[in-house]
Amino acid sequence: MARYVGPDCRLCRREGMQLYLKGDRCYTDKCAIERRHYPPGQHGQRRSKLSDYGAQLREKQKVKRIYGVLEKQFSSYFEKAERQKGVTGTNLLIFLERRLDNIVYRLGFANSRTQARQLVRHNFFQVNGTRVNLPSFLVKTGDVIVVTEKGRNLALIRDAMEAVARRGCPPWLEFNKEEAQGRVVMFPTREDITMPIQEHLIVELYSK
Ligand code: SF4
Repeated sequence: MARYVGPDCRLCRREGMQLYLKGDRCYTDKCAIERRHYPPGQHGQRRSKLSDYGAQLREKQKVKRIYGVLEKQFSSYFEKAERQKGVTGTNLLIFLERRLDNIVYRLGFANSRTQARQLVRHNFFQVNGTRVNLPSFLVKTGDVIVVTEKGRNLALIRDAMEAVARRGCPPWLEFNKEEAQGRVVMFPTREDITMPIQEHLIVELYSK
């Protein structure tokens, strides 16, 4: 599957905000946004004013980058979100939050979604007692996510669990450090998703 392999910080600089793609480094003064708060590239020293379409496109790119999702999968989430009852933009964000790689990151088993994706692919997690190695797996209310025995011995996961205090576990998830497991108590509400996202711009873009 195609994926972006360039520098993560470049993506944050393009969007003009911290997307928290590199784990611990994002919380230090080494963060590239702090040091070079302008877009990447030869002509990047200034930000030009965006058209309505430009702003909608940037918002979509930003959300895709936050969750590490490519265009095809993103538009399929949008189609599902549109078919569901409720507000399409909120439904879309809830789909993205329900991805297993995001849950692993939110619970603090990984320092970034990229790391979470890699750990999921390497079979370090079980959902309701079954190994799941699909980062796009969508969790349901009541699902229990457990780190496998092999994963519990992995320094990367142990260190990440120590560091979760800095981010905090969202109220819609339950984290049990001793058991190295988490539970989906409920789906998140819009208020639980605290990144500055204007999802209505994405809805406008896809509605054209
Ligand atoms: Fe983005 Fe993190 Fe790089 Fe800062 S350190 S620019 S938040 S990826």
